[in-house]
Amino acid sequence: MALTEQLKEIVGPKGYLEGDDIGERHTSDVSGRKYGDPILVLRPATTDEVSQVLALCNEAGQPVLTQGGMTGLTQGGIPLDGEVVLSLERMNAVEAIDARSGTATVQAGVVLQALEEQLETKGLMFPLDLGARGSCTIGGNLSTNAGGNRVLRYGMARDLVLGVEAVLADGTVVGGMNRLVKNNTGYDLKQLFIGSEGTLGVITRAVLKLFPQPRSQSLALCTLNSFPQVTDFLTLMRRRLPGTLSAFEVMWQSFFEKAISLPQTPDNPFDEAHAFYVLVETQGGDQERDAKALEEALADALESGVIQDAVIAKSGDEAKNLWLIRDASMEVYLTLTPGKSYDVSFPLDAIQPFSEKLTETLAERWPESELVMFGHLGDGNVHPLTNADNGGPEIDEVLFGLTSEFGGSISAEHGIGLSRRGYLGLCKSDADIELMQTMKRALDPKNILNPGRIIEMDA
Ligand code: ZN
Repeated sequence: MALTEQLKEIVGPKGYLEGDDIGERHTSDVSGRKYGDPILVLRPATTDEVSQVLALCNEAGQPVLTQGGMTGLTQGGIPLDGEVVLSLERMNAVEAIDARSGTATVQAGVVLQALEEQLETKGLMFPLDLGARGSCTIGGNLSTNAGGNRVLRYGMARDLVLGVEAVLADGTVVGGMNRLVKNNTGYDLKQLFIGSEGTLGVITRAVLKLFPQPRSQSLALCTLNSFPQVTDFLTLMRRRLPGTLSAFEVMWQSFFEKAISLPQTPDNPFDEAHAFYVLVETQGGDQERDAKALEEALADALESGVIQDAVIAKSGDEAKNLWLIRDASMEVYLTLTPGKSYDVSFPLDAIQPFSEKLTETLAERWPESELVMFGHLGDGNVHPLTNADNGGPEIDEVLFGLTSEFGGSISAEHGIGLSRRGYLGLCKSDADIELMQTMKRALDPKNILNPGRIIEMDA
């Protein structure tokens, strides 16, 4: 029997798509790019099916591309010609929520927001939060080690996982779904699969760390005139709001002005334009006390001239509205089509010189171009968006070259995928890349799992 027939038999009639039934959802991602046609899309319903599929593909040397919610920004989920797509979308069950131990056992295809909604009804929270929450999946979040808005307080995806079940290229199921907080029994195997973008194994299930739903949320949108003020403000907020500061999101004027003029965002609460806008959020246990603490901290910042103005959300709805401005990043990006979106990180004191040099360089080389910046400043992570070079390859060279020059990382939270692969050498030494290849060879000797993503293997 042909390989495709055998694969279809494993997953059953509901478990595959072929030919014209394979829609855009499986051939392209949010970037709209398409590179090829997969020969088959498999939608397994169990870990055992994933295992059987991989065992068979491994035997046949058949390349497999694993897909989550397709919201990644480095094209890691876009299939190439001749690949079999493995979509985990049907493995979307929240298997167990254990409030006492603070864990959730979930399948890889669970949509982040669906999990958040289930947890909310139980007074719990999984603190990973990003703009793509409505579509991105836990499997994708873990395999890319997603970051997002609350890394400052809770860490990246990597820090929020206790156990992972993964299927190796040959179909072996590993991981054991650890639920212990303390477990130093040798290599931390789950970390092999977190952040390796599906190149070392397919994450099928995970045990996630939960936190109590915060009983208070306070949010303010502040305006500032210079970057040194932004870093002073961060230092001040860290000092004044220890343990409750949960987000510190910076929008450069260029970003704010585009976002605030979109239909879904609120009216601009400020009369004058400012160089920087910061969303400061705290989460804690006592609404009255926490709101007062934020107010006092902001009064302090106003008085000392660190910030120029501030709007404090007076209700949950007002807070949601203010978040819409920052969450409009995808729509802001789309105003720059054809453009590129970057995800770079720096030591704090390098961000200002980097952004100045970048602005200068773009103005010189592509005088018509626009540059828009925002980021998670508490983590040194900035997202430059630009239509310079009409989204062509030269802007990558310029931007990554400058990133490296200022001691930054070319990928803070989005991963490497296909689109950043050529620049990996700016952040990893030859010896590092060789070690990555050695690991890849050990776990996936036939190079069937997401081949060519992150690193190239010589034949
Ligand atoms: Zn981000």
